[in-house]
Amino acid sequence: MIDPFGRSLNYLRMSVTDRCNLRCQYCMPEEGIASVGHGSILSYEELLRVARVASRLGIRKIRVTGGDPLVRKGIVNFLGQLASLPEKPEITLTTNGLRLAEFAVDLKAAGVNRVNVSLDTLRTDRFERITRRAGLDQVLAGLEAAESAGLGPLKLNMVPMAGINSDEIADFARLTLDRPWDVRFIELMPVSSRLEVGEKQRVPLKTILAELRKLGELETELPTGPHGPAQLFRLPGARGCLGVIPAVSSHFCNECNRLRVTADGRIRPCLFSDQEIDLRSVLRDSADDQPLEELFRQAAAGKPNGHNLKSCGCGPGDRLMQQIGG
Ligand code: SAM
Ligand code: SF4
Repeated sequence: MIDPFGRSLNYLRMSVTDRCNLRCQYCMPEEGIASVGHGSILSYEELLRVARVASRLGIRKIRVTGGDPLVRKGIVNFLGQLASLPEKPEITLTTNGLRLAEFAVDLKAAGVNRVNVSLDTLRTDRFERITRRAGLDQVLAGLEAAESAGLGPLKLNMVPMAGINSDEIADFARLTLDRPWDVRFIELMPVSSRLEVGEKQRVPLKTILAELRKLGELETELPTGPHGPAQLFRLPGARGCLGVIPAVSSHFCNECNRLRVTADGRIRPCLFSDQEIDLRSVLRDSADDQPLEELFRQAAAGKPNGHNLKSCGCGPGDRLMQQIGG
């Protein structure tokens, strides 16, 4: 699928649930949000059909996300089926890591290629404040288990927030000295006025880079594989890489190769546009894959050239990140 701006769309982020076992301040309100309900969420069979159609149309990498994908029953079996599609797409998973220790070996056996873990602090008290739940030790155990199971190189995603955890940028960066991990700093995106954390807490790209430069001269890293929107660096002598994802400060839209499918079965061509295309009714009304292919083509044709997040200060519309999959 090539969009009208010449971008080849070969990466699908697929959300399998809107439920989560954490309540991160920048993603969900404290009370959580009402789940869309069992019948509205695509079944694994439906998700597989979507993935099959997308793979036939040229999707080569599928990232499974949520909510937290590891809270959905039967997830390992589903991932195994995804990995067995005839086109053999690369299968990756984004998780908060709480249940990773439990699943790591099975995920590897199912054919998952890599895992991204979102972690915003290395301090127990802060973890509880940011996520409104306990569990830092479980996440750290999950990282070890994933590495031992061969799910690496692990990517660790950290969202620095002013006055909350931005003083840990250096601690996260130093993890790469001994570990072959990719540590990525993601600019906080202003998602919704319903959340406690927003634009005021955003640490801009240049501040993140300034913090990193205090640790030594950053070597610019040339990506060896697909690296998405991250700018990559390495600390002198480090085993792992550092990445900075300027979600707000600078547009990486011209390199965007993604489509998203929400857990309730909508294709979302751009994270920051409300535009969604309903796959679910077609999935449920027709056994023919042709109309589904048409909807994917329609999504590609309608992918916006870029977002104007910086100038408008707006977020992804009515939906929260945990509903879209980030
Ligand atoms: N629960 C999984 C996790 O946390 O990795 C997967 C879903 S979560 C919505 C996907 C990613 O979105 C996470 O890395 C999270 O940090 C990120 N995210 C959520 N809200 C965000 C925000 N307001 N700004 C930047 N990143 C955000
Ligand atoms: Fe859950 Fe991930 Fe959102 Fe945190 S960022 S509340 S772990 S979906």
